[in-house]
Amino acid sequence: MFVDVAFPISGFQTFTYKVPVNLVKHIEIGSRVRVQFGAQKTNGIITGIKQKTSYFGKVREIRGLVDDVKIMTPELWKLIQWMSHYYMTSVGQVAKAVLPKNLSTRYTPPKNWMVEPNPIFADEDLKKTKRRAPKQYEIFKQILTADHPLKVSSLKNNSSGVLASCRGLEKRGLVKLFEETSLPDVTGFTFDPIYKKVDFNDHQQEAVSQITLAMDSNIYTPFLLHGVTSSGKTEIYIESVRHCLDQNRTAIILLPEISLTPQIAGRFRAVFGDTIALWHSKLTQAQRSWTWKEICKGSFQVVIGARSAVFAPLKNLGLIVVDEEQESSFRQDSPAPRYHARDVSLVRAKYEAACVVLSSATPSLESYYNHLNKKLTYLHLPKRYGGAKYPQVHLVDMLNENDESGKLGQIFSGLLQDKIEARLQKNEQIILLQNRRGYSPVVRCSDCGEIVMCPQCKVALTFHIKESQLICHCCGHFETQRWEVCISCQSPNIKYSGTGTQRVEAILKEMFPKAIVERLDMDTARTAKGLTSILKKFSNGEIDILLGTQMIAKGLDFPNATLVGIINSDLGLHLPDFRSGERIFQLIYQAAGRAGRNTKLGEVVIQTYSPDNPVIKNAAQLNMKRYYNIALSERNELQYPPFSWLAKIEIIGKNQTSVELLSKRIAKTLKGDYKGLKILGPVPCYLEKLRNHYRYQIVFKSIKEKDVNGKKLHHFIQTNFMDIQKKFRIGQNRINIHFDPLSLI
Ligand code: ADP
Ligand code: ZN
Repeated sequence: MFVDVAFPISGFQTFTYKVPVNLVKHIEIGSRVRVQFGAQKTNGIITGIKQKTSYFGKVREIRGLVDDVKIMTPELWKLIQWMSHYYMTSVGQVAKAVLPKNLSTRYTPPKNWMVEPNPIFADEDLKKTKRRAPKQYEIFKQILTADHPLKVSSLKNNSSGVLASCRGLEKRGLVKLFEETSLPDVTGFTFDPIYKKVDFNDHQQEAVSQITLAMDSNIYTPFLLHGVTSSGKTEIYIESVRHCLDQNRTAIILLPEISLTPQIAGRFRAVFGDTIALWHSKLTQAQRSWTWKEICKGSFQVVIGARSAVFAPLKNLGLIVVDEEQESSFRQDSPAPRYHARDVSLVRAKYEAACVVLSSATPSLESYYNHLNKKLTYLHLPKRYGGAKYPQVHLVDMLNENDESGKLGQIFSGLLQDKIEARLQKNEQIILLQNRRGYSPVVRCSDCGEIVMCPQCKVALTFHIKESQLICHCCGHFETQRWEVCISCQSPNIKYSGTGTQRVEAILKEMFPKAIVERLDMDTARTAKGLTSILKKFSNGEIDILLGTQMIAKGLDFPNATLVGIINSDLGLHLPDFRSGERIFQLIYQAAGRAGRNTKLGEVVIQTYSPDNPVIKNAAQLNMKRYYNIALSERNELQYPPFSWLAKIEIIGKNQTSVELLSKRIAKTLKGDYKGLKILGPVPCYLEKLRNHYRYQIVFKSIKEKDVNGKKLHHFIQTNFMDIQKKFRIGQNRINIHFDPLSLI
């Protein structure tokens, strides 16, 4: 018996190996094998099995299997092949992205003691305990007030030995003790379970019935769940998953960034307990392997995670939920495969005859358009749950804001200051968004205009006051020396201009010295623990003002946060990208949605220098429909998605001339263009130099009218680039192919 084996290399060819007799029974398509490849011992994946080979060279034997359990399902294998074809990436490379490195690690998750009241304890025993063991009695009171089992270690106790006390209580027949595996969720990464009583309103009930009905039919059904912020989307996911499990099927919940939404994981844990596996980038290799193996064995029925959770090897998949489906973090740009987890989830669900719920308060324009065209079944939650009102929004024109001397460029408007003051007085909480980290994004000489740049990238360095460093936000390069004089003209007039979160923080602390301010951005939330601890503190009311970048805009549910302020809503609005308007709209709308999620009326203050810009204006009116109509007609006019298909070829290398020449040569040799195809470039990328590499791009736009399903564009790119190495002398340069890129900059 012979097999074809693929390797994680960019080339598409496979290699023939012989199967030793003892392995014949264990070999399947999709199995990973250990082999000798050239001079190297390495792992590959089996893509074909055959009895004979037409290959006349020396055929080596495979050395062994990589995994001791079956890791692939037929549907997953089909998905890998689809990705390989669609994203033009070799099967070996796709498999490397899909599968954990190896499954042969030893990892045993730790266990916790849990305790709950015995439902049939006798009053007499209780009285006896009160008299004879007052300490145990105190502990029992804590256990009794909770409506769910508690971790023994979480019980408050004046003396040590809570476990011993609980054992005592167990002997007295008052409680039950049991051990629970503490799953690798990276401790401190999720909130503790959040328990809720759920009572669906009519809109919610309608959404739930449509999803469950589709699930019962066993037919692939993609939904767009469009629910305003705080309409109860998460409760819909939970109910749908419950139905899915009742049917003995499994479910995947994709979150844009699991570390930013610990509350959602907390709510799922509360309902489904140990049937849930968490899957995200912060898991160690060992935890990853353990989780994957357990999923293969069927120990978990639900996987919650970031984009790569779409590959979870669940059998009998019934449901995939993509929460905040418009989020760009579902896209992987590097390394290959350059895929979009939302799109992959649709394909996977098709193979599994499952339901997909794409969910958002502000869907991507593509999904919105697909709903208009009836490609997605529309589910609408038009109201906040439980009668919570929409926040009142104030739009402040910063051109009218100046200080006593008449100077413009204020960071806080009078209105926002007053509103913050008023909420602090009432002991309510405030969320402030400034979508840029650091202190000052541009350090410039006031005399000659020289800007301090990153030596590796063509971008300005950002000054960070906390770290006392100049940092490149593209490559991480940093310089510790302060710029006392200009490097070009030696002038001492160095100006730290622009505003990042650190500057806002400093001003806030000065303005409201009594308030407790915390900053949440990539600098303070480097670790999952740091992040969760800030969110928990805010949730417990230990923080008055939470200031942050876009990290604070998503998914958080804090009933006492009644004021949201957006310091500079124009940030990013004028980036030369066709999606920048859509992004800013979504960010403002989402951030505004954090205010007043309960009975207390919320307020939002949006500061801008462009109050008439349709993005800002409509976001301030929370008018999604109007903005989306404007955006769609713009896209239509300029023939951008969803009215066209896009592909992008990036040419990257250390030598600028060589990159430029190669790009031009490629553009010249392109063959087979057709009506409806537009080729733009080659031009230098918006970020022309990154990490010492120069970057050029060629963009391909294929109009949907002429290319309904994108196959023409696909074919064009395939035929032109299939054998890049053979066709072009690329030398030290690299060529990256992106299908459906999210951005052209
Ligand atoms: P979204 O995800 O749409 O922003 P959430 O699911 O977070 O909204 O719901 C907002 C709040 O309302 C949450 O605290 C949630 O538990 C509560 N809620 C929503 N629907 C229900 C329901 N049917 N019964 C009880 N509470 C609900
Ligand atoms: Zn840099």
